[in-house]
Amino acid sequence: MRTVDRRRGYWDREKETMAPAARERYQARWLATLVAHAWERAPGVRRRLEHAGLSGDIRDLAGLARLPAIKKSEMPDLQKVDPPFGGFCAVPVGKLRRIFVSPGPILEPMGPEVSAWHGETALFAGGFRPGDVVLNTFAYHLVPAAHEIDEALHLIGCTVVPTGVGNTDTQVTTARAVGATGYVGTPSFLMTILKRATEMGGGRLPFEVAQVGAEALPESLRRQFEEDHGILTRQGFGTADIGMVAYECPEKSGMHLVDDAIVQVCDPQSGAPLPHGQIGELVATVNNPTYPMIRFATGDLTIITDERCPCGRTAARMLGWRGRADEVTKVRGMFIHPRQVDEVAARADGVARCQAVVGREGHQDTLVLRAELRPGAAAPAVTAAIEAAIRDVMKLRGNVEIVPAGTIPETAKKIADQRTWE
Ligand SMILES: [Zn+2]
Repeated sequence: MRTVDRRRGYWDREKETMAPAARERYQARWLATLVAHAWERAPGVRRRLEHAGLSGDIRDLAGLARLPAIKKSEMPDLQKVDPPFGGFCAVPVGKLRRIFVSPGPILEPMGPEVSAWHGETALFAGGFRPGDVVLNTFAYHLVPAAHEIDEALHLIGCTVVPTGVGNTDTQVTTARAVGATGYVGTPSFLMTILKRATEMGGGRLPFEVAQVGAEALPESLRRQFEEDHGILTRQGFGTADIGMVAYECPEKSGMHLVDDAIVQVCDPQSGAPLPHGQIGELVATVNNPTYPMIRFATGDLTIITDERCPCGRTAARMLGWRGRADEVTKVRGMFIHPRQVDEVAARADGVARCQAVVGREGHQDTLVLRAELRPGAAAPAVTAAIEAAIRDVMKLRGNVEIVPAGTIPETAKKIADQRTWE
């Protein structure tokens, strides 16, 4: 049996370990080329630039930030007005290799160039190596992920078995027949396959590495894959429109941003870029000359950190998915999200139910976390723990109000905004 080091090494050491200033120059270079190209070839992009009073000459992030972000939810209408791609495709239809149809419906072109999603960097960091035989269980009809990931796997030197969605028994027998070392698909389907394999008998599946996506990967599930089944499991983040923009490395502490995407975390209301460390909406510009999505707002909330990663990669990391942008509330300039309220409650042991109440005193926003305690929990200890958790999770100071059990209705909103603006 061959032994493979799935943790060390890079797909492209030079790019992945660039100094921050070098990365800025690299991105400014492709950005300038991409915008000039889109200005010439993609009338939909040109209309947006003209509407913002800009030209095809954008050379840095400050210039880029002057272009209002385009929302994913606008795409179906834009494509209806100017079919098939709303003027965002820079290549004649006859030159495309594929056209995908994502829910919305939103059409996405796959250009003549190979691997516009830049997924090989992500898959290599996730542990895929030349010689792996990989079951790709993403959907092959209509949507792009399976096809784009296949290209990335081929570039690495892996062999793909395009099993697609479902047919669990066939997945199990195929994995055994071909000696599949890799899996690509959703985490829940991987668990379904592993369970079915146990039921069918015949010993453990040969999987050693998995790249999962399209749904959340709870750490408890990852532990089962890694500890019970010996499958190195990593995840990435992307959408059908922009491709893969972030991926986990062996350290699995956040997802490194790919060098061919410029990711800005932005104020969901104004669209202005926020400093790293604050929660905001992920807005991406991707180096894809066929489909130059420039400042595409995903509607997903995240936080980005510049802290060094021990793996040696120097790209900033996205700290997970933090909910949808249309559910946020702004408190003293910071966005808070229902999921953060849950996180605060989870960190402060002893909370049965809680709700954040946003109010206003004078010209100041106030934040009070109302909490019902679990039986036996001590109010002073829980209060202190909640206060600390609010500071850590929301980067805000807030007060705590312990209320009797049954005070907060089961159907209550996680964040009650009681501010009135006259
Ligand atoms: Zn890393």
